Amino acid sequence: MPEILLSRDQIAVRVAEIGQQITTDFAGQSVLLIGVLKGACMFLGDLARQIQLDATFDFIAVRSYGDRHSTGEVQLIKDVTMPLRNQNVVLVEDILDTGLTMTFLKKMLMAHQPRVLKTATLLDKPSRRVLPIEADYVGFLIPDRFVIGYGLDYVERYRNLPDICVLAEAPRK
Ligand code: 5GP
Repeated sequence: MPEILLSRDQIAVRVAEIGQQITTDFAGQSVLLIGVLKGACMFLGDLARQIQLDATFDFIAVRSYGDRHSTGEVQLIKDVTMPLRNQNVVLVEDILDTGLTMTFLKKMLMAHQPRVLKTATLLDKPSRRVLPIEADYVGFLIPDRFVIGYGLDYVERYRNLPDICVLAEAPRK
């Protein structure tokens, strides 16, 4: 059995808190949640059910290339399909690591002229950051370990683990 870093119960409690925070921050308004495929699918599904607002969903997909420490590049492989102009958008990510992906996506989404763009990440590895970016809503700060489960994969496997676990043999990126 893999080592559990964050149990399903810990995740549920924290996701409910973030949902409550978003509900308060956007009281009386609607929100468009944009999940980053595939890793954020569980987080988006659970978070959305903790947001007591009029909400819609969209999804986006990216691919990363190269050495993520320095020259990594991010490419969009699935764009949004809903209009974002004048919408309250919350970008929902699984994990903020080097910051390349979120930096790329924020810039890309801002070009659509949303009313507000906020970012939510379930996990944050601040020690790995290459670009100076922070999310508006952060589930858990975690150490530099490669994690799987609750949507996060290792070569497409383990996304269905209900807890967030540490991969025994950590792959170097
Ligand atoms: P960044 O662009 O911030 O370096 O990376 C964000 C993406 O890297 C995440 O959306 C995720 O796909 C991947 N990633 C970073 N750290 C981990 C990890 O510990 N486990 C898994 N499964 N993916 C990770």
